Amino acid sequence: MDFSLSDEERAVRDTARQFITREVMPLEQEALRRERAHQPGLELSELRELQLKAKKFGFWGLSTPEEYGGMDLPAMLQSLIWTEIGRTFIPFKFGGDADNILYYANERQKQEYLVPTIEGDRISCFAITEPGAGSDAANIKLSARQDGDDWVLNGEKTFITNGNDADFVIVVAVTDKEKGVRGGGTTAFLVDRDMGWRSEFIQTMGEGGPAALVFEDVRVPARNILGEIGQGFELGMKWIGKGRYLIPSQALGIAERALGMAIDYANTRETFGRKIGENQAIQWMIADSEVELEAARWLILRAAWTVDQGADPRHASSMAKLFGATMVNNVVDRVMQVHGGMGYTRELPIERWYRQVRLMRIYEGTDEMQRLIISRDLLRGYTKIGGHLQ
Ligand SMILES: Cc1cc2nc3c(=O)[nH]c(=O)nc-3n(C[C@H](O)[C@H](O)[C@H](O)COP(=O)(O)OP(=O)(O)OC[C@H]3O[C@@H](n4cnc5c(N)ncnc54)[C@H](O)[C@@H]3O)c2cc1C
Repeated sequence: MDFSLSDEERAVRDTARQFITREVMPLEQEALRRERAHQPGLELSELRELQLKAKKFGFWGLSTPEEYGGMDLPAMLQSLIWTEIGRTFIPFKFGGDADNILYYANERQKQEYLVPTIEGDRISCFAITEPGAGSDAANIKLSARQDGDDWVLNGEKTFITNGNDADFVIVVAVTDKEKGVRGGGTTAFLVDRDMGWRSEFIQTMGEGGPAALVFEDVRVPARNILGEIGQGFELGMKWIGKGRYLIPSQALGIAERALGMAIDYANTRETFGRKIGENQAIQWMIADSEVELEAARWLILRAAWTVDQGADPRHASSMAKLFGATMVNNVVDRVMQVHGGMGYTRELPIERWYRQVRLMRIYEGTDEMQRLIISRDLLRGYTKIGGHLQ
């Protein structure tokens, strides 16, 4: 058994680290200042500029096939890169990627939606969640009724990331109530904003915010169906599955950076005539954080490895998401404690992380949904205890 990175993995990881350190981290203080003034930490135009700079470094389209100009990286490398992205709290990601399910588009749709999204000329969002259907996504109600060559959409989606900025949405709608959501009764549509849906900003505890999307008699031509009629829920689950090892990969980077700050602070801050790091109370917080961080690392890398093996990654990814999201919340909480009052201020990024990482336990499958998946796999015998080593 070999736990080391290959030369290629190390080289890609180090180049990503170099880019984040040299080009993105220097923007951090200004981003904190802007956010304190209730402005976005990074404007979309600045994000784009950074992404184009990263393209020159060779980072463009981490998961995009080479025929579309991307790197088509194995999951392991994508995971390592997302950990590097996690080290900065600037809301940055490398450019050149599009929603994985846009590859189910036909040739015309690919030119109209996929390619411009990869190029950064169009902004997409993906919508399945509704006010009455989150964890229970099979309970969606937004309907699409066929009318001649068009479909007419009515209903509401909520908590949609990028919903305020997107110029088109991939929306999952009920097209056949009789068949039911799991029985092929849903379809995904590509719907331009100018076809008539509107978005309403939702204030959250994080920076930025998702949107509610309102559809009132929105007419969509049949040629805008993504994939097949009846395939909507399946595509939705594919979209959600993608993030399950990338979210904890980013969490790992956040935890590593935050823990590093706690160690520096423990080694410099003095109370009662000695460094706070000389107290067992502080030492234990650092030790527990390191142990959880390392445990998460191996669950995450195993999930990425499972993807690269072409095996079903759901069980491994659910464990990585559940443990990784919990870990980063624990670590950031301890890091704040180690910093005392300073940790609570908006001079440092700790309170920002504290708000940001809380979301990781909620979106793209809550902790409870991950537990449901993990236990169901075992109870029904889909997976054996001990996984692939059995
Ligand atoms: C900032 C943000 C961005 C998001 N981005 C998107 C997006 O881009 N696209 C999109 O479609 N959605 C998005 N979501 C929605 C997100 O995926 C849902 O919020 C999430 O799935 C939980 O659904 P819910 O909020 O309806 O909670 P509910 O499903 O109502 O759950 C409430 C609580 O009950 C628990 N629970 C529910 N059922 C069970 C059960 N059977 N057993 C035990 N516990 C249970 C849950 O775990 C949770 O703790 C986003 C959400 C947020 C907050």
